[in-house]
Amino acid sequence: MPPTLLDGKRIADEILHEVRLQAADVSARYDVIPTLATLMVGDDPASQVYVKKKIKTCHELGLESRHCQFPADATRSQVEEAIREFNEDPSVNGILLQLPLPQQLNADNLLEQIHPAKDVDGFHPFNVGRLLLGRPTFVPCTPAGIMELLARSGISAMGKTAAVVGRSNIVGKPVAALLLQQHATVILCHSRTRDLAAVCRQADIVVAAVGKPGILTADHVREGAVVVDVGINSVSDAGELRRVVGESAEHWSTFQKKGRALVGDVEWRTVQPRAAAITPVPGGIGPLTIAMLMRSTVQACRWQLEGAPWS
Ligand code: NDP
Repeated sequence: MPPTLLDGKRIADEILHEVRLQAADVSARYDVIPTLATLMVGDDPASQVYVKKKIKTCHELGLESRHCQFPADATRSQVEEAIREFNEDPSVNGILLQLPLPQQLNADNLLEQIHPAKDVDGFHPFNVGRLLLGRPTFVPCTPAGIMELLARSGISAMGKTAAVVGRSNIVGKPVAALLLQQHATVILCHSRTRDLAAVCRQADIVVAAVGKPGILTADHVREGAVVVDVGINSVSDAGELRRVVGESAEHWSTFQKKGRALVGDVEWRTVQPRAAAITPVPGGIGPLTIAMLMRSTVQACRWQLEGAPWS
């Protein structure tokens, strides 16, 4: 039987519709418009696309946005000053610092400057701590999107074995914490995990967040597993694309137009026939990340008006 395709785009649209209603409700009740401030340093093309998309989605949902753009050689104090202004501005509800940053800037230092009550990305140690403790807080958007996708697809993690491949602060660690909260037995894998394939084969749910095209193959996935592919990798080599996606018409059509195509960390060609359910790339986790950011921005606005769970 072919696997269930976990359609992130459809679920993201569902969430965006809900967020639009929530934003309208907040605006009607309090006469404010939930507002997201974005900060970006430099002109990384992928980051530019992401930031534009976030701002556009804000406007589509009736949210406001502010944007602060810095040149690639911006100093720590310049960015800190902008964060401080957004922290102090009562009309700004959420603040997002687009990553990655140029080399001279330390992301951890800057992320800690964002006020925890406006930290819609959930990267501040205050929110990371609350997440680990299982208390209501801002949850990083990609992991939150993964959990929402599983829940809305009727996939429970309770009692299942989940292997998360990748231990970044942005994806791997928080998604492992969330799966644990949902009563999965979690195995958190990384570049030094020995015999990754054997470890992953134990899992009922595999989450791939590595950043290497098609690194997880049929050898890593047991028959009937649920596979969540977070990876977004641009592939410009035809042989590599064929290895990962086989003859997928959608990917090849993009490749012919642009000379490259996006693929995940999962070798779709060999994994897809084994999985019970799987996310595509693109169209899987990507759209959910933005939807969860919008939801967190409205949540931030409400918590600032009605009191946060920690206040
Ligand atoms: P990072 O580079 O921060 O982390 C990658 C992780 O993968 C590290 O923990 C690393 O291990 C691990 N890793 C690297 N090589 C191997 C290997 N051979 N075997 C096992 N583990 C390995 O990446 P991110 O978490 O930021 O992103 C991961 C992917 O997800 C990227 O493709 C990114 O583009 C995508 N992404 C997608 C989003 C979306 O919205 N869909 C949002 C965020 C990210 P170690 O710690 O030991 O170095």
